[in-house]
Amino acid sequence: MNVQPQPVSAADTGQPRERIELAAAYRLIAHYHLDDSIFTHISARAPAAEGEHAFLINPFGLRFDEVTASSLVTVDINGDILRDNHGAGINKAGFTIHSAVHAARPDVHCVLHTHTVAGVAISSMEEGILPLNQWSLQFHNRLAFHDYEGIALDLGERERLVADLGDRNVMVLRNHGLLTCGRTVGEAFALMFNMERACRAQLAIMSSGGRQIRIAEELAEKTARQYEGWDTHHTGNKPDPQWEAFQRLAIKHYPDLVE
Ligand SMILES: [Zn+2]
Repeated sequence: MNVQPQPVSAADTGQPRERIELAAAYRLIAHYHLDDSIFTHISARAPAAEGEHAFLINPFGLRFDEVTASSLVTVDINGDILRDNHGAGINKAGFTIHSAVHAARPDVHCVLHTHTVAGVAISSMEEGILPLNQWSLQFHNRLAFHDYEGIALDLGERERLVADLGDRNVMVLRNHGLLTCGRTVGEAFALMFNMERACRAQLAIMSSGGRQIRIAEELAEKTARQYEGWDTHHTGNKPDPQWEAFQRLAIKHYPDLVE
């Protein structure tokens, strides 16, 4: 079957691609039940026309399934609002993690943070993500960890969080949740989608009580490099076929996201 990608620029609504892609990510996180009420955030660089070093983030109080392209709030690196069509402002404390990462990592276009039961459970175990299955191997030797310091993120914690992240793109926030960084919205989403499944599979394995088959270090590292090869060939370069497919799903189920 020849699947024709639907246009995701949705020029008829007049919304820029950056806004549509981020709104699609919010809808997909809700679609897969990876959201946490009105909390957690996905941020991405705003279109250049909306400000230099400006970012898009969800308006305060909206569920992820309510976010649209035009309702995304444009903020600067300090979280000060440049544009807010919805009018409710943002959760400034929630933007703290995101602004710290954006400020420290100019290579990162999108930062995605979740609190899911599986992600929080794995983040609360010393073992982290174990090399037990193919999904998990994408993250083998590539995870950053940040210890829990309470809800409020002071300036000192921002510095420690960014130092803990370093140049990695996936981080386990101990006792708290998961965070991914992408050169595109699609890359951040795909990393989170796979990390979530790796966490769920690990919990299923652990709770089954079955004897675990650990994948040897050499094979685990080889497989992690194979994942990076895919990323280099597809994710960093448009079009990314997986992200195009996810966006078709989002627009098919939630066509109002482009408004
Ligand atoms: Zn959080």
